[in-house]
Amino acid sequence: MTPEQIRDRLADNLALVQQRIADAALRSGRKADDVLLVAVTKYVGLEIIEPLIDAGASVLGESRPQQFWPKAEALADSPIHWHMIGQLQRNKIRRTLPLVELVHSAESLRLVEAIDRIAGELSLRTPILLEVNISGNEAKHGFSPADLEGNLTDFEAFPNVEIRGLMCMAGLGTDADGARGDFAALRELRDRLRGNCPPGVSLDELSMGMSGDYEAAIEEGATIVRVGSALYEGISR
Ligand SMILES: *Cc1c(COP(=O)(O)O)cnc(C)c1O
Repeated sequence: MTPEQIRDRLADNLALVQQRIADAALRSGRKADDVLLVAVTKYVGLEIIEPLIDAGASVLGESRPQQFWPKAEALADSPIHWHMIGQLQRNKIRRTLPLVELVHSAESLRLVEAIDRIAGELSLRTPILLEVNISGNEAKHGFSPADLEGNLTDFEAFPNVEIRGLMCMAGLGTDADGARGDFAALRELRDRLRGNCPPGVSLDELSMGMSGDYEAAIEEGATIVRVGSALYEGISR
Protein backbone atom coordinates (compact mmCIF):
# COMPACT_ATOMS: atom_id res chain seq x y z
CA MET A 1 0.00 0.00 0.00
CA THR A 2 1.16 3.54 -0.64
CA PRO A 3 1.37 5.95 2.29
CA GLU A 4 -1.67 7.77 0.85
CA GLN A 5 -3.72 4.58 0.78
CA ILE A 6 -2.69 3.80 4.35
CA ARG A 7 -3.60 7.32 5.44
CA ASP A 8 -7.06 7.13 3.82
CA ARG A 9 -7.81 3.71 5.20
CA LEU A 10 -6.78 4.69 8.74
CA ALA A 11 -8.94 7.79 8.58
CA ASP A 12 -11.93 5.72 7.38
CA ASN A 13 -11.42 3.06 10.05
CA LEU A 14 -11.06 5.65 12.80
CA ALA A 15 -14.17 7.51 11.64
CA LEU A 16 -16.15 4.26 11.62
CA VAL A 17 -15.05 3.30 15.14
CA GLN A 18 -15.84 6.81 16.39
CA GLN A 19 -19.29 6.64 14.80
CA ARG A 20 -19.99 3.26 16.39
CA ILE A 21 -18.86 4.59 19.75
CA ALA A 22 -21.18 7.57 19.38
CA ASP A 23 -24.11 5.34 18.40
CA ALA A 24 -23.53 2.95 21.31
CA ALA A 25 -23.19 5.88 23.73
CA LEU A 26 -26.55 7.23 22.53
CA ARG A 27 -28.13 3.81 22.98
CA SER A 28 -26.93 3.83 26.58
CA GLY A 29 -28.36 7.27 27.21
CA ARG A 30 -25.05 9.11 27.00
CA LYS A 31 -23.22 11.41 24.62
CA ALA A 32 -20.38 10.43 22.30
CA ASP A 33 -18.05 12.59 24.41
CA ASP A 34 -18.81 10.52 27.49
CA VAL A 35 -16.78 7.62 26.10
CA LEU A 36 -13.04 7.88 25.55
CA LEU A 37 -11.40 5.95 22.73
CA VAL A 38 -7.93 4.67 23.50
CA ALA A 39 -6.37 3.79 20.15
CA VAL A 40 -4.18 0.77 20.87
CA THR A 41 -0.95 0.97 18.88
CA LYS A 42 0.88 -2.11 20.15
CA TYR A 43 0.68 -3.81 16.74
CA VAL A 44 2.08 -1.01 14.65
CA GLY A 45 5.10 1.22 14.17
CA LEU A 46 5.53 4.94 13.72
CA GLU A 47 4.71 4.76 9.99
CA ILE A 48 1.14 3.85 10.98
CA ILE A 49 0.92 5.72 14.30
CA GLU A 50 1.80 9.09 12.78
CA PRO A 51 -0.99 9.06 10.17
CA LEU A 52 -3.35 7.72 12.84
CA ILE A 53 -2.58 10.80 14.95
CA ASP A 54 -3.08 13.01 11.90
CA ALA A 55 -6.47 11.37 11.39
CA GLY A 56 -7.48 12.47 14.89
CA ALA A 57 -6.43 9.82 17.40
CA SER A 58 -5.30 11.69 20.48
CA VAL A 59 -5.14 9.07 23.23
CA LEU A 60 -2.96 6.08 22.46
CA GLY A 61 -2.52 2.86 24.40
CA GLU A 62 0.43 0.48 24.62
CA SER A 63 0.72 -2.75 26.54
CA ARG A 64 4.46 -3.46 26.61
CA PRO A 65 6.69 -0.92 28.30
CA GLN A 66 9.78 -1.81 26.27
CA GLN A 67 7.94 -1.24 22.99
CA PHE A 68 6.16 1.78 24.38
CA TRP A 69 9.20 3.79 25.51
CA PRO A 70 10.79 4.35 22.10
CA LYS A 71 7.42 5.28 20.59
CA ALA A 72 6.75 7.81 23.32
CA GLU A 73 10.21 9.24 22.84
CA ALA A 74 9.82 9.53 19.06
CA LEU A 75 6.42 11.22 19.45
CA ALA A 76 7.34 13.46 22.38
CA ASP A 77 6.32 16.56 20.44
CA SER A 78 2.96 15.21 19.26
CA PRO A 79 -0.24 16.47 20.87
CA ILE A 80 -1.17 13.06 22.26
CA HIS A 81 -1.60 11.29 25.58
CA TRP A 82 -0.46 7.77 26.35
CA HIS A 83 -2.18 5.13 28.46
CA MET A 84 -0.42 2.00 29.74
CA ILE A 85 -2.92 -0.81 29.27
CA GLY A 86 -0.77 -3.92 29.77
CA GLN A 87 1.22 -5.61 32.45
CA LEU A 88 3.59 -3.20 34.16
CA GLN A 89 6.42 -5.09 35.83
CA ARG A 90 7.74 -3.31 38.86
CA ASN A 91 11.17 -2.67 37.33
CA LYS A 92 9.48 -0.82 34.44
CA ILE A 93 7.46 1.60 36.56
CA ARG A 94 10.03 4.37 36.97
CA ARG A 95 10.58 4.87 33.27
CA THR A 96 6.90 4.53 32.39
CA LEU A 97 5.11 6.81 34.87
CA PRO A 98 6.40 10.15 33.56
CA LEU A 99 5.17 9.24 30.06
CA VAL A 100 1.59 8.21 30.79
CA GLU A 101 -1.65 9.92 31.66
CA LEU A 102 -3.34 6.78 33.02
CA VAL A 103 -2.31 3.26 34.01
CA HIS A 104 -5.21 0.87 33.30
CA SER A 105 -3.57 -2.25 34.61
CA ALA A 106 -2.93 -1.92 38.34
CA GLU A 107 -3.52 -5.58 39.06
CA SER A 108 -2.38 -6.15 42.66
CA LEU A 109 -1.89 -4.34 45.91
CA ARG A 110 1.87 -4.88 45.58
CA LEU A 111 1.86 -3.14 42.22
CA VAL A 112 -0.25 -0.23 43.51
CA GLU A 113 2.18 0.13 46.42
CA ALA A 114 5.14 0.21 44.05
CA ILE A 115 3.49 2.74 41.72
CA ASP A 116 2.66 4.93 44.72
CA ARG A 117 6.21 4.81 46.07
CA ILE A 118 7.87 5.57 42.74
CA ALA A 119 5.32 8.26 41.82
CA GLY A 120 6.19 9.90 45.14
CA GLU A 121 9.91 9.76 44.36
CA LEU A 122 9.22 11.37 40.98
CA SER A 123 6.88 13.99 42.49
CA LEU A 124 3.99 12.67 40.41
CA ARG A 125 0.42 11.89 41.27
CA THR A 126 -0.45 9.04 38.94
CA PRO A 127 -4.02 8.20 37.91
CA ILE A 128 -4.65 4.46 37.84
CA LEU A 129 -7.44 1.97 37.30
CA LEU A 130 -7.70 -1.26 39.27
CA GLU A 131 -7.70 -4.26 36.93
CA VAL A 132 -10.33 -6.78 37.95
CA ASN A 133 -10.33 -10.43 36.96
CA ILE A 134 -14.06 -10.35 36.49
CA SER A 135 -14.37 -13.67 34.66
CA GLY A 136 -12.41 -15.50 37.36
CA ASN A 137 -10.24 -17.03 34.64
CA GLU A 138 -6.97 -18.23 36.17
CA ALA A 139 -4.99 -17.07 33.16
CA LYS A 140 -6.09 -13.47 33.73
CA HIS A 141 -4.55 -10.84 35.89
CA GLY A 142 -6.24 -8.62 38.37
CA PHE A 143 -8.00 -8.26 41.68
CA SER A 144 -10.85 -10.62 42.34
CA PRO A 145 -14.13 -8.87 43.12
CA ALA A 146 -13.81 -10.26 46.65
CA ASP A 147 -10.39 -8.59 47.01
CA LEU A 148 -12.08 -5.24 46.53
CA GLU A 149 -15.41 -5.67 48.25
CA GLY A 150 -14.97 -4.49 51.81
CA ASN A 151 -11.28 -3.68 51.32
CA LEU A 152 -11.26 -0.36 49.54
CA THR A 153 -9.86 1.30 52.66
CA ASP A 154 -6.56 -0.47 51.83
CA PHE A 155 -6.22 2.05 49.02
CA GLU A 156 -6.44 5.07 51.29
CA ALA A 157 -2.78 4.61 52.11
CA PHE A 158 -1.50 5.74 48.72
CA PRO A 159 -1.18 9.52 48.44
CA ASN A 160 0.63 9.47 45.08
CA VAL A 161 -1.91 7.52 43.10
CA GLU A 162 -5.40 8.56 42.19
CA ILE A 163 -7.69 5.59 41.77
CA ARG A 164 -10.18 6.57 39.09
CA GLY A 165 -12.01 3.35 38.29
CA LEU A 166 -11.92 -0.27 37.24
CA MET A 167 -10.67 -2.09 34.16
CA CYS A 168 -11.32 -5.58 32.84
CA MET A 169 -10.64 -7.84 29.92
CA ALA A 170 -13.59 -10.07 28.98
CA GLY A 171 -13.07 -13.80 29.48
CA LEU A 172 -11.09 -15.73 26.88
CA GLY A 173 -13.04 -17.23 24.04
CA THR A 174 -16.16 -15.22 24.77
CA ASP A 175 -18.08 -13.61 21.93
CA ALA A 176 -19.58 -10.15 22.25
CA ASP A 177 -22.65 -11.52 24.04
CA GLY A 178 -20.55 -13.54 26.48
CA ALA A 179 -18.37 -10.52 27.10
CA ARG A 180 -21.47 -8.47 27.84
CA GLY A 181 -22.03 -10.51 31.01
CA ASP A 182 -18.50 -9.69 32.19
CA PHE A 183 -19.00 -6.00 31.44
CA ALA A 184 -22.29 -5.90 33.32
CA ALA A 185 -20.61 -7.66 36.26
CA LEU A 186 -17.82 -5.05 36.35
CA ARG A 187 -20.33 -2.21 36.30
CA GLU A 188 -22.34 -3.83 39.09
CA LEU A 189 -19.18 -4.30 41.17
CA ARG A 190 -18.31 -0.64 40.63
CA ASP A 191 -21.81 0.43 41.63
CA ARG A 192 -21.60 -1.60 44.85
CA LEU A 193 -18.16 -0.21 45.71
CA ARG A 194 -18.85 3.38 44.78
CA GLY A 195 -20.88 4.15 47.88
CA ASN A 196 -17.95 3.39 50.20
CA CYS A 197 -14.99 5.00 48.51
CA PRO A 198 -12.33 6.32 50.89
CA PRO A 199 -10.67 9.67 50.14
CA GLY A 200 -8.45 9.48 47.06
CA VAL A 201 -10.56 6.78 45.46
CA SER A 202 -13.27 7.53 42.91
CA LEU A 203 -14.64 4.87 40.65
CA ASP A 204 -16.09 6.92 37.82
CA GLU A 205 -14.19 5.23 35.03
CA LEU A 206 -14.88 1.78 33.58
CA SER A 207 -12.27 0.70 31.02
CA MET A 208 -13.75 -2.23 29.15
CA GLY A 209 -14.27 -3.32 25.57
CA MET A 210 -11.89 -4.02 22.67
CA SER A 211 -12.35 -4.35 18.90
CA GLY A 212 -14.71 -7.32 19.10
CA ASP A 213 -16.96 -6.06 21.85
CA TYR A 214 -16.58 -2.32 22.47
CA GLU A 215 -20.16 -1.52 21.51
CA ALA A 216 -21.52 -4.06 24.02
CA ALA A 217 -19.13 -2.63 26.63
CA ILE A 218 -20.43 0.89 26.07
CA GLU A 219 -24.02 -0.29 26.31
CA GLU A 220 -23.05 -1.81 29.67
CA GLY A 221 -21.48 1.41 30.91
CA ALA A 222 -17.89 1.62 29.66
CA THR A 223 -16.43 5.13 29.87
CA ILE A 224 -13.16 4.08 28.17
CA VAL A 225 -12.77 1.56 25.34
CA ARG A 226 -9.42 0.18 24.14
CA VAL A 227 -9.55 -0.51 20.42
CA GLY A 228 -6.66 -1.79 18.32
CA SER A 229 -7.26 -4.24 15.46
CA ALA A 230 -10.41 -2.52 14.16
CA LEU A 231 -8.31 0.56 13.36
CA TYR A 232 -5.93 -1.40 11.15
CA GLU A 233 -8.41 -3.42 9.11
CA GLY A 234 -7.46 -3.55 5.47
CA ILE A 235 -3.94 -2.32 6.15
CA SER A 236 -1.19 -4.78 5.47
CA ARG A 237 1.39 -4.59 8.19
C1 LIG B 1 -4.29 -5.37 22.62
C2 LIG B 1 -5.18 -4.89 23.69
C3 LIG B 1 -6.38 -4.24 23.38
C4 LIG B 1 -6.87 -4.03 21.96
O1 LIG B 1 -7.33 -5.24 21.43
P1 LIG B 1 -8.02 -5.31 19.97
O2 LIG B 1 -8.81 -6.56 20.04
O3 LIG B 1 -6.92 -5.36 19.00
O4 LIG B 1 -8.87 -4.11 19.83
C5 LIG B 1 -7.15 -3.78 24.42
N1 LIG B 1 -6.77 -3.93 25.72
C6 LIG B 1 -5.62 -4.54 26.05
C7 LIG B 1 -5.25 -4.66 27.49
C8 LIG B 1 -4.79 -5.04 25.06
O5 LIG B 1 -3.64 -5.65 25.40
